[in-house]
Amino acid sequence: MTNKAPLIDQFARRISYLRLSVTDRCDLRCAYCMPERQVFLPKSEVLTLDEMHDLALGFIDRGITKLRLTGGEPLVRRDVIDLIQALGRKVGDGLDELTLTTNGTRLAEFADRLAAFGVRRINVSLDTLDRDRFAKLARRDSLPQVLEGIAAAKAAGLKVKLNTVALKGENEDEIPDLIAWAHGQGHDLTLIEVMPLGEVEEDRFDHYLPLSVVQEKLEQRWTLTPSGHRTGGPARYFDVAETGGRIGLITPLTNNFCDGCNRIRVTATGQLYACLGGNEQVDLRGALRSADPETAIAEALDVAMKIKPARHHFAIDRPGSAPALARHMSMTGG
Ligand code: SAM
Ligand code: SF4
Repeated sequence: MTNKAPLIDQFARRISYLRLSVTDRCDLRCAYCMPERQVFLPKSEVLTLDEMHDLALGFIDRGITKLRLTGGEPLVRRDVIDLIQALGRKVGDGLDELTLTTNGTRLAEFADRLAAFGVRRINVSLDTLDRDRFAKLARRDSLPQVLEGIAAAKAAGLKVKLNTVALKGENEDEIPDLIAWAHGQGHDLTLIEVMPLGEVEEDRFDHYLPLSVVQEKLEQRWTLTPSGHRTGGPARYFDVAETGGRIGLITPLTNNFCDGCNRIRVTATGQLYACLGGNEQVDLRGALRSADPETAIAEALDVAMKIKPARHHFAIDRPGSAPALARHMSMTGG
């Protein structure tokens, strides 16, 4: 793409952060994320790693300075480390940050190379420290691997942030212990409200836990002070005096954070979603595979900037309500 115009949407928001899902596949089956029998995409529909690389370089030309690889589970995609190595060369040369969100199961294998290839920080999802609970929530008995992965990441010098989905009746009672453990290990932790994305077996209403409730309980135990820390993302941060660590709260349902949105998402099939909570999309795979990819992609991105909505409209307000969107979080990677 020789077009170097910055990406600015219809509400004058400058888009500088791309989340690229490198695969919809995953080695876990977190019950709130996807059904046990999730049907994954045929390979032919998924962009090749070369296509993802070209696309990412094009986005960097258009002013994307932060790139997060996600999934599904990014580290289960074969040869993904080659893509990371190639994109790592852009860190300091267009990219301020290359990072990923992972479930941690394969981190022990990849941590050293991630650090060597320019990744400085990663997000690791961890909803419980209890092995049986993990096996129930993720439907795979993988907690030991994940903890090994987190330790390997720390040893490799990667800054780890933990992400925890707050789930009523599942890990609600454990949240303070998780935070204390994370802070003891030197990791920040961000809590996330469960979002109504894609059909799963259970009713998300049963497990939806507003973080306002969690925050109140945490404040009975600890002193939380609003932190000046900003990432340009949706989290609000608090310093915890007693642990010396920081927590983030992502509250898509109780608090709207769309005004300052700087991000877009691209799925493994090359669909650009302008909003995590909307269906506005453009097809970059078609553009990439067209006779004149450069022009087609530039045109698609112009459309994306025009259709990015002002805000999302999530709600989990009554039992049995249908998901706000048919697609699962594993399509867009959160
Ligand atoms: N597999 C990787 C992982 O788990 O970190 C990356 C993809 S996963 C879809 C990204 C994040 O989305 C994880 O932290 C996960 O807990 C979260 N997530 C998945 N489904 C969700 C939902 N319905 N509501 C809120 N968060 C969700
Ligand atoms: Fe896989 Fe991440 Fe979804 Fe869990 S949250 S099933 S690890 S994609």
